[in-house]
Amino acid sequence: MELLLTQVAKKKSWPFHGEIIDFQIAQRDNILTVLEVIYNQFCNPMFRQFLRYSWQKTGYIDGYIARRETEFDTPVESCFPKDSATICEHPGCQILSFIRCSYCSSLFCFNHFIVNKHIHQ
Ligand SMILES: [Zn+2]
Ligand SMILES: [Zn+2]
Repeated sequence: MELLLTQVAKKKSWPFHGEIIDFQIAQRDNILTVLEVIYNQFCNPMFRQFLRYSWQKTGYIDGYIARRETEFDTPVESCFPKDSATICEHPGCQILSFIRCSYCSSLFCFNHFIVNKHIHQ
C-alpha cells in the first residue's frame, strides 16, 4: 500500500475526465495551490451558515441552531451540481469542466480552476 501511494505521489501527470493533467499533487506548491483555491471558495459568504452549523453541530462552539439555520447549500451542492461536467467556460477552452465557482457560477476545468488559481477577492 505504501509503495502504491509513493508511486501516485511521484506521478507527474494523470488522467482527469479524459485529459492528461500535468500537475504533481504531492508537490508542496501544488498542495498550497489547491488549499488556496478551496479556502477562497469557503470564504464566500454563501457558506457562512454552513460553516457555523458545522462548528456548532460538532460542539466546537456553543449556540442554539434554529431550524431555519439548517437550510443552506453545502459546498458539494453549490460547487459540484449534477450538471457541473460540461464544457469549461474559460474563453477558448473546450475541456470538460468539473466545478462551478461559488462566486461567479461559471464552470471550469481543472487547469482553469486549480492550476490557474481561480480566486475571487
Ligand atoms: Zn469565479
Ligand atoms: Zn478550461
